[in-house]
Amino acid sequence: MPRKKTEINPEEIIKEEPKPAETQAPEQAAEKPAAEKKPAARKLRAKKAAPAEEKAAPAEPVAEKKPAARKPRAKKAAPAEEKAAPAEEKAAPAEPVAEKKPAARKPRAKKAAPAEEAAPVVEAAPVVEAAPVVEAAPVEEAAPVEEAAPVEEAAPVVELPQPRRSVAFIGSECYPFVKTGGLGDVMYALPRALAKLNCDVKVILPRYRCIPQKWQEKMVYRGSFMMDLCSDGRSFYVGIMEYVWDGVVYDFIDNDEFFSYGNPYTNLIDDIPRFCYFGKAALAALNYLEWVPDVIHCHDWQAGLVPVMLRTFFADTPLRDTKSVLTIHNLRFQGIYNIPTVKYWTNLPDHVFNKDVMTQNWVDANMLKGGLTYCDRITTVSNTYAGEIQTEFYGDGLDAHLRFHSGKLRGIVNGIDVEQWDSRSDKLLPFPYGTDDVFDQKRANKLALQEQLGLEQNADKMVLGLISRLTDQKGLDLVNAILPALIDGNTQVVILGTGDARYEDSFRWYENNYKGSVCSYIAYDEALAHRIYAGSDALLVPSLFEPCGLTQLIAMRYGTVPVVRETGGLKDTVQPYNQFTNEGNGFTFDRYDAGLLLDAVNRAKTLYFTNRWRWDEMVRRNMQKDVSWENSARQYRALYLELKP
Ligand code: ADP
Repeated sequence: MPRKKTEINPEEIIKEEPKPAETQAPEQAAEKPAAEKKPAARKLRAKKAAPAEEKAAPAEPVAEKKPAARKPRAKKAAPAEEKAAPAEEKAAPAEPVAEKKPAARKPRAKKAAPAEEAAPVVEAAPVVEAAPVVEAAPVEEAAPVEEAAPVEEAAPVVELPQPRRSVAFIGSECYPFVKTGGLGDVMYALPRALAKLNCDVKVILPRYRCIPQKWQEKMVYRGSFMMDLCSDGRSFYVGIMEYVWDGVVYDFIDNDEFFSYGNPYTNLIDDIPRFCYFGKAALAALNYLEWVPDVIHCHDWQAGLVPVMLRTFFADTPLRDTKSVLTIHNLRFQGIYNIPTVKYWTNLPDHVFNKDVMTQNWVDANMLKGGLTYCDRITTVSNTYAGEIQTEFYGDGLDAHLRFHSGKLRGIVNGIDVEQWDSRSDKLLPFPYGTDDVFDQKRANKLALQEQLGLEQNADKMVLGLISRLTDQKGLDLVNAILPALIDGNTQVVILGTGDARYEDSFRWYENNYKGSVCSYIAYDEALAHRIYAGSDALLVPSLFEPCGLTQLIAMRYGTVPVVRETGGLKDTVQPYNQFTNEGNGFTFDRYDAGLLLDAVNRAKTLYFTNRWRWDEMVRRNMQKDVSWENSARQYRALYLELKP
């Protein structure tokens, strides 16, 4: 793979051909007429990309590669129109930039083909609305809908006025390449859900060395360039490796200096420079690929500088009209470091280091705060959390800033990927199950889990699961306080997690002292997580704060009843059980208090042991609850349309 820095001499590039616009000073870029810039960028790419492109598409000139990459998507959308594609796209390279923009959009219009197919449906709608004439409605409605029936994608297009939007996701992790928590799940599932809603989605990620080899092998080299970064003029290599999967394009930013060691996050001393680099490289890569999305959707502090750079360094590039959305997945992590260091690694102008933009406590730069200031919309992953973070307790020092920007803040609750988390087809389960055979199969899964973890094998015992990062955010102090009270001879506790040593040690201690009743599996183990979701009766999520939380959603889908604290997304997704109306999905408590957690678990136990009929009804209800991404993806799509009507 052509990843070595030494292969590219920036000096030569600068002399031979102008750099891509994004690597120049914005003023310079602005001076040049657009028509001059793009052909230059193309030359650069054609030259440098040669070795790897030979592998990917030997005889094709660069311009022909794009259609190739797009074909799979075009296929899905409109097989009938494939023939038209090459003609249109071949014309693109010859066009100057000013004309190119429309050219870039052409494929979008083209890919919106299902909309065209569905056009009669769309047109029909106003007729139906406009025609209170009852006779006309059924006739006109029925015909096109029946024709369009096999094209499932038509449905969302009908409801949403604009047929296609393009979105670039920028974030630091994404399942299955690299995942440390919920952010990885969201970066995987939301783009896929949006792709199904007629969005053109690109996900931009760092190419960490820890990404498993099987994924690394699938990546194709798309090009590379040098990018100015630091205030002393240091520039860095940016390689782009691409992988297209299920309608989503994944572009990995390749640079060995920043991404070749360890896990995605190590310590702030290393993480600050690497994510300063990553934010700029992601935007530069979009320009380099000549892919101008309608919206750039940034995630957490690691992509916090993207909106800032979009409105400074990239204000005079083709990305100038692109809108940005910043999603807060967890406000606790903000990317705070001293101003001189951040200034050095970004070379951002002085006015950005202002207390209303990035500066915090007079001496620090806060990358997330900068993003919140400059982005066009802020979202967070549940409605309750959107309100909570504007208070001092949950605001982590940014509550006043968020209150100031509350006009552009909203909450959209996460979903889960229901194909990845499907108890009927889950290959990691010894006994997959659906709603019809849940009770027998869940017992079988419980016995298998007990055997695997060295617990007493008895399907009549109630198993309480806990799957979590072991940090104080997750309410583990409460669990520690009540664990002995939970073990009553009829209950077992299974803990899966890694994190702070104090929790790892205390849970190990409990395992040793309650052998056969408590298992503390201190590791990150995806397969075991699936088995615990399936083999447990209830899952504990007593978080101190929880922006959204995915484990309670997965638990419900697997017929496991959540016991949660009423905070953030837990409050929005788990309706407390009401014994009088027999409604609800789980057991909840409000104040952060160990006694209240114990009370909630005891209420769950009481129902489980004394009224199994009602418990089983709740299990079935939970499995049928819609926890998919579809609803949330629609809300995100509506947000994009709001920004780019
Ligand atoms: P957070 O993002 O705060 O860690 P979430 O509830 O949003 O918490 O997401 C946690 C995700 O990580 C879930 O998919 C959960 O199954 C998974 N997970 C957490 N800890 C482990 C672990 N030790 N082993 C396997 N999966 C884990």
